[in-house]
Amino acid sequence: MNYKNPDQHGYYGEFGGAFIPEMLYPNVEELQSGYLEIIESESFQREYQSLLKNYVGRETPLYFAKNLSEKYNTQIYLKREDLNHTGAHKINNAIGQVLLAKRLGKKRIIAETGAGQHGVATATACALLGLECIVYMGEIDIQRQAPNVARMKMLGAEVIPATSGSKTLKDAVNEALRDWINNPSTTHYVIGSVVGPHPFPDLVARFQSIISKEIKEQLLEQTGRENPDYVIACVGGGSNAAGAFYHFVDEEDVKLIAAEAGGFGVDSGKSAATTFLGTLGILHGSKSLLMQTVDGQVIEPHSISAGLDYPGIGPFHANLFKENRAEFFSINDEEALQSAFQLTRIEGIIPALESAHALAVLDKKRFKTDDIIVICLSGRGDKDMETYLKHL
Ligand SMILES: *Cc1c(COP(=O)(O)O)cnc(C)c1O
Repeated sequence: MNYKNPDQHGYYGEFGGAFIPEMLYPNVEELQSGYLEIIESESFQREYQSLLKNYVGRETPLYFAKNLSEKYNTQIYLKREDLNHTGAHKINNAIGQVLLAKRLGKKRIIAETGAGQHGVATATACALLGLECIVYMGEIDIQRQAPNVARMKMLGAEVIPATSGSKTLKDAVNEALRDWINNPSTTHYVIGSVVGPHPFPDLVARFQSIISKEIKEQLLEQTGRENPDYVIACVGGGSNAAGAFYHFVDEEDVKLIAAEAGGFGVDSGKSAATTFLGTLGILHGSKSLLMQTVDGQVIEPHSISAGLDYPGIGPFHANLFKENRAEFFSINDEEALQSAFQLTRIEGIIPALESAHALAVLDKKRFKTDDIIVICLSGRGDKDMETYLKHL
């Protein structure tokens, strides 16, 4: 499987495609036929790379975590996506897509958000690049995530509550899709992970691939070899993992590890471990693994980290799982919390709860003393302080 180039219909093996209502065809086809030429053009790359460097603050450090390495008796490097502007990897994609939208002549950006991280990244990119921004967010999430709602408003975005269904992320996606259908020519929908109809999974993976491009260069400089033995990342929809894996997926000597949110445990009924619990189905416009009842109702996921609280997984990762190209671990809430506290105490870095799931793999698997392990630290923990304080 060529993960860097899914087929022309956006398939990674049997996963992917574009399953959308007919009224969305014009929007999605416009993107499908134009995205590669635009984002690969020299002028786009010049503008994008310049913003990544001077606005986002890339390249992010690849940090050899000496204390953590001693504790686990192996060589651990942290890719510091937490140091990006707005605190996580999501800005890499948000800026890329808003730039793309501008080149497609769009004036208006819509996005969905769960915890608000993707909403904040998109509102930030829109403030910077001068586009109108509307963020759909479940009514319950708006109450739960007040600080991010305030940030989006201060950045000039309009936050519209999704009041149907469970009033959470999947309902916000439905509202955003409805908006897109009604405003096909003026509006671009910025999807926040490697999910959704083709070409979004490939588009988002390409924007996040900067993570593994930098890892290769930095590792070569620091160790004399550009390939680590392992790359570990957490997976919600899968964008930081796709970015961290991208330039290693064809290198057989690099083992890939994905950490999913086990919630209270995979057998507890309150989990978000899609590869363990999911079956083949269609969610948000693509065919992939998702948590559903026998008659196809989406099961509400649970994770302590809002960014991993998603009932599906992108087609890129569904195929990595199917082909056994990546090893998947399910990390429970409690295990993620302990890993977050440990990193904070021994390295002085407070990670996002999502990223703590990737760190927790260190307790699940034995590594050799001379193994080089790169862990994607997808975001910082400021947004999770309330949860951390409750468990201190
Ligand atoms: C949103 C988020 C994630 C999960 O999204 P992916 O698309 O799976 O990367 C992980 N970490 C952080 C810090 C996030 O904000």
